Amino acid sequence: MPLDVQALLAETGALLQGHFCLSSGLHSPNYVQCALLLEHPRHAKVIGAALAEKLAAMRPEKIVAPALGGVVIGYTVAEALDLPSIFTERKDGAMSLRRGFRIREGERIVIVEDVVTTGKSTRETAKVVEEHGGEVVGFGSILNRSGKANPFDPQPYAALLELALETYDEAGCPLCQASVELYAPGSRFSK
Ligand code: ZN
Repeated sequence: MPLDVQALLAETGALLQGHFCLSSGLHSPNYVQCALLLEHPRHAKVIGAALAEKLAAMRPEKIVAPALGGVVIGYTVAEALDLPSIFTERKDGAMSLRRGFRIREGERIVIVEDVVTTGKSTRETAKVVEEHGGEVVGFGSILNRSGKANPFDPQPYAALLELALETYDEAGCPLCQASVELYAPGSRFSK
């Protein structure tokens, strides 16, 4: 049976309904908590294998993921491709490579994320890879919520599911007007 990410999102309760303040500052009636989607290793493994299949043609030598969101999916993608998996993390706000992780000069790197919305942390990770001499050969994520087919064009990008992101600015938010309690996923739901 083919992997149905949409059904798995519903089954795992990862698609949250409510009133959320996104990292962009925009408000949205829904939020995807990928940590719930990946909570069971069985799910993380099949999703990683499905994404790996789409990324194999980029011929990566190593997978790099931004922490925390990308760590689990980066690992299972790398497992499926039999590649090493490392991650970048924020230190005093700046994305950086720590823990003794290394990137070889010219090493072919694919950046893997859970969800791409603005693509900000993904781009920051690509910059870190390039600063260490690596060659970013493509990007992948479970969900594409950027509203674009490829937010990293002209570099290749693959996602398992495009999911439209419904957003409002605060002034025009119908949920604010209805006084629905607002959650900031960044704090209550760690992303
Ligand atoms: Zn609102």
